[in-house]
Amino acid sequence: MGLLSLGTPLDWHESKKYNEHVRHNGITQLINIFKQHFNRSNDQFLWGDEVEYMMIDIDPINKTAKLSIDKDYILNDLNDSDKSLSKSINNNILFHPEYGRYMLEGTPLKPYNGNCIDEYVYVEKNMKLRRLISTQELPKHIKPLTITTFPRMGCEFFTSPPAKPIGPASQSLFLPDEIINRHARFPTLTANIRKRKGHKVGINLPLYPDKFTKLLDDSIPKDRQLFKSDKEPWLGASKPGHIYMDSMGFGMGSSCLQITMQCSDINEARYLYDSLAPITPIMLSLSAAAPIFKGFLVNQDVRWNVVSGAVDDRTFIEKSQEPYPNFKLFGGLDVNKNEILKNNNYDLNEFGDIKNVYSNDGKPIQRIPKSRYDSIDNYLSDFKYDTNYFKDEYNDLNAPINKKVYDRLSKEFPQYFDKYLSNHFAHLFIRDPLVIYSERINQDNELSNDHFENIQSTNWQTLRFKPPGLYRQEENISFKPGWRVEFRPMEVQLTDFENAAYSNFISLLSKAILKFKPNFYIPISKIEINMKLAHNVNSIINEKFWFKSFEDWNLDNDEFIGYDFSWFDRFLNLGNDLLNNDNEVYLKGYSSSYSSTTNLSQMNGINGSISKKNCSNKTIEKINDIDDYGMDQRYTIDDIINGSKDNKFPGLIKLIIKLIAIDLIPNQKHCQDEKLELNLIKLRYYLLLISKRAKGEIPTIANWLRLKTINNPNYKHDSKVSEIINYDLITDCDKLTDLKDRKSVESLFGNVITDYLYSEQYFNTF
Ligand code: ADP
Ligand code: MG
Ligand code: MG
Ligand code: MG
Repeated sequence: MGLLSLGTPLDWHESKKYNEHVRHNGITQLINIFKQHFNRSNDQFLWGDEVEYMMIDIDPINKTAKLSIDKDYILNDLNDSDKSLSKSINNNILFHPEYGRYMLEGTPLKPYNGNCIDEYVYVEKNMKLRRLISTQELPKHIKPLTITTFPRMGCEFFTSPPAKPIGPASQSLFLPDEIINRHARFPTLTANIRKRKGHKVGINLPLYPDKFTKLLDDSIPKDRQLFKSDKEPWLGASKPGHIYMDSMGFGMGSSCLQITMQCSDINEARYLYDSLAPITPIMLSLSAAAPIFKGFLVNQDVRWNVVSGAVDDRTFIEKSQEPYPNFKLFGGLDVNKNEILKNNNYDLNEFGDIKNVYSNDGKPIQRIPKSRYDSIDNYLSDFKYDTNYFKDEYNDLNAPINKKVYDRLSKEFPQYFDKYLSNHFAHLFIRDPLVIYSERINQDNELSNDHFENIQSTNWQTLRFKPPGLYRQEENISFKPGWRVEFRPMEVQLTDFENAAYSNFISLLSKAILKFKPNFYIPISKIEINMKLAHNVNSIINEKFWFKSFEDWNLDNDEFIGYDFSWFDRFLNLGNDLLNNDNEVYLKGYSSSYSSTTNLSQMNGINGSISKKNCSNKTIEKINDIDDYGMDQRYTIDDIINGSKDNKFPGLIKLIIKLIAIDLIPNQKHCQDEKLELNLIKLRYYLLLISKRAKGEIPTIANWLRLKTINNPNYKHDSKVSEIINYDLITDCDKLTDLKDRKSVESLFGNVITDYLYSEQYFNTF
């Protein structure tokens, strides 16, 4: 969440009058951004992470752990120059508000320099400082933990101090409004989503079926009569066999890890955005950390569909859903031609609009297949970049667009907005603004981008294409943030080590993508399928994911042989030179001039002619389903990350190791510097963490938490997470966070990584 605008947020019934005004001026601002920045180039590869924390009140006497909702003043203190701001600044940290009153978001104050190896290693130190400084601001019994979801959120007495779920903003049966950030933006956002939608959000997660699980959510109050919406679970909102959640906080109150990277220019950013799209479900699966919601074990491992449902402001008609009895098909929209829909008799045009039905401000009513928090619907296309891999068939979701926006961008400013970019923004602009401040209705479109950001930043998708801001003529824009791509699917991890590892993995992979320029395009509908697969329990080892056929990555596999974990050993250990003459494999990895030999190919079982193909002569169906070997094109995450067992294709980690070897360290045969050695060892362990999770050798946090719950002596095999189990889980997480208890650390990371975390080598990197 960026800085909060100060002002009075309008209630939906007031604010909706300005929807078209915000969209129109937002697009004017976007056009001005393109005028100012379209041609900027040679920006540095800068990047930054965002980590979200939950403040948890741990009471060892009563054995309870609760979300602390009255310590949010620390956020103000950490941003107050008379209080603790200097502490943040001196440590290169910035704390931001988040949806939950119990939440904090921490980022580096200045982005990291992605060309400098020290800065990758520094990330963890920065994360540790964020934890330290926020902990210092809090009473001793309250800890800022990086857990993705709080296990008993929405159960009785889950907050400290206690609060009742009777709030008018969310009208939730489970979540009190006191969990929502006090800034008026957040309760307004919560209420306006509900008001636009015309009913509450409703999220149903399958219960984890254990021996004594009753397949029903018995936590839903039957007889509350506080709000009209209290009836919704009995009118179809709650599904049998599922747990039911009814409020924005269940999703936006969970924590995630996001990475933003700056590209050298707009075309590079578009290629990076597209290349990362197929990686998003893979990283969701690899970071899975959310097996428990509202006091129940659920039959899935991640938070994504919960957040998606939690801010889904679509009306019944937009979702193509039958309304509950006596609820409005059009929700809180003002519609002019209600009568033609009387018999559910309506047609759609090619843009997904329901023919001849408009809201009062002239915007067509549309069928909208996805929530505004969801996976991306379109690639941006790399046709202006030197790769030029994109094909129109890859954008196969036919996501609805705002036709007016599309026409304005593509017809009036074709020099900036080709059909893909026009389509991208026209898709984002099908949404209504959710919060408008009365003081900010009229803006200077040459200098402000608030209206644009109002729509852009409430499209919470797996990736965000972030254009620069608007600046005065006299300012030197080359020092201002440029074209950036944000990677958003990952769940936050428990330790700084893991969060640094995942952050490094994404930033290094992005840099490697820009260096080696692989072709990762697959039809975007396949990514959609992968997102669903990534939700499944232990998807990391149980599922196969659609991915670009390795033969079509447009990389020469031979160029990557040797850039596996052994590269680190060879570069760091002089002794391995002895192997040079006997076994040429050991030469590779630091000789970029190496070319493949028959010997080597035979040794690795490789047919030397396989490498570097392009897919131009294949039909799309063939690319979709079958590769040259007649096998289906779904791969295990192990294959995608670690490369194939038969060494036919590299896997993502080899791309990263080669990048480190040829781009991030001095051009020398062996490491000659102690600091570099420590840094490389650390990067090696970051990659090892990802590699081992991909192989299923060590658990994801979701798996770890699920097993901890099932093995808890108080667990009754009924899928319920009681207060005492919740306490045990949180104290386990707390111990793990600080690496306090070696046994616990081993249970998550295994021996090899644990040895490192307890070694001097690790401590010496801080
Ligand atoms: P949002 O919540 O909108 O994604 P934040 O300000 O919370 O934005 O986080 C943005 C991230 O981008 C931070 O980690 C920050 O360090 C990083 N960042 C800031 N400037 C740049 C830049 N020029 N290039 C890349 N990353 C940047
Ligand atoms: Mg955030
Ligand atoms: Mg943020
Ligand atoms: Mg962000």
